[in-house]
Amino acid sequence: MSEAKETVLEIDLGALAHNYRYLRSKLDKDVKFMAVVKAFAYGSDSEVIAKKLEELGTDYFAVAYVYEGIRLRKSGITKPILVLHPQLTNFEEIIDHCLEPNLYSEKILRKFIEIAEQKNQKNYPVHLKFNTGLNRLGFSQKEIPTIYKLISETESLRVASVLSHLAASEDWREREFTLGQINLFRKMTWELIEKLDYEPLLHICNTSGIINYPKAAFSMVRSGIGLYGFGNDETIDPHLKPVGKLKSVISQIHHLEKGDTVGYNRAFKVEKPTKIAILPVGHADGINRRYGNGKAGVMVHGNYAPIIGNVCMDIIMIDVTDINCEEGDEVMIFGGDQHPVKFAEAGGTISYELITGIQRRVSRKIIEEKS
Ligand SMILES: *Cc1c(COP(=O)(O)O)cnc(C)c1O
Repeated sequence: MSEAKETVLEIDLGALAHNYRYLRSKLDKDVKFMAVVKAFAYGSDSEVIAKKLEELGTDYFAVAYVYEGIRLRKSGITKPILVLHPQLTNFEEIIDHCLEPNLYSEKILRKFIEIAEQKNQKNYPVHLKFNTGLNRLGFSQKEIPTIYKLISETESLRVASVLSHLAASEDWREREFTLGQINLFRKMTWELIEKLDYEPLLHICNTSGIINYPKAAFSMVRSGIGLYGFGNDETIDPHLKPVGKLKSVISQIHHLEKGDTVGYNRAFKVEKPTKIAILPVGHADGINRRYGNGKAGVMVHGNYAPIIGNVCMDIIMIDVTDINCEEGDEVMIFGGDQHPVKFAEAGGTISYELITGIQRRVSRKIIEEKS
């Protein structure tokens, strides 16, 4: 693999394929797989990732916003795309681009029916979100008769699936709560399906749901973070491969003496002869200020080099006093010999926030799967 000559996010499609197959191996053959590719496929590259997942056999995609779904359609994705968080103003575009809305309230359902009828739709696929305790989006149990009434009075739509979302599938201390959510989901879906003369897909599991509650896979699962290489658990992480590696390069090296200071607000004070390296990556790239001042570090030729001083917009400074390195050498920020979870934790956050935070201006380099 070539050395990085600038800050680059390497995207390893072989790792993606490995993670996909690992997650699939946890499920019965007939369970469908919805790949969650919202937020630029968790900060990587949604078009490339979705294309690869389509080749691998993903049945469905999910995005959060309509604009994300349109991007995928424009890049040639043909599998169905669920839009998790549509707004009232999005419905024409949804239909125009063959996207499938997640309908979560009576107001949203009524509006979608109105637009679908205006556009002369028949059996347009929609998804109904049930709230089983997360208290984010979703219908409550007492709304089921109303939902049924509305959908039985129109021919414009068909319920492609019914879904809910778990609040704490990764947390064993919340096992009872999670099983309660799963049971409530079962009850609510029965109540609706009893009345329908067809059976929609049912899904409640996210990545940690697949791993910890495989019996609750129903007919489909929705996985995001696992595809990108994270299991939300240190016993699962070794089975998965992080898809993204953030690399950078040493722009300049300085040799400093006691009394010198480094960076804005002179936040780092040199106590002894110190060698520092300057890297072209900063908070505008997604390495926010919480990683600075010694909280986190990067790897230089396999050695840990702490980030010193305040993180700047386009630059971080690292202490490389005891590391044999030169200007132009590659630096690993996360991935490879520094697990991204470790880096995220050092900055007081989680894998999800770290990887989705890598900004668009960082160039992406796609590493194809080795055949
Ligand atoms: C983001 C999201 C997911 C994916 O969850 P992971 O923990 O990343 O697998 C699944 N379902 C919904 C509703 C989501 O918003």
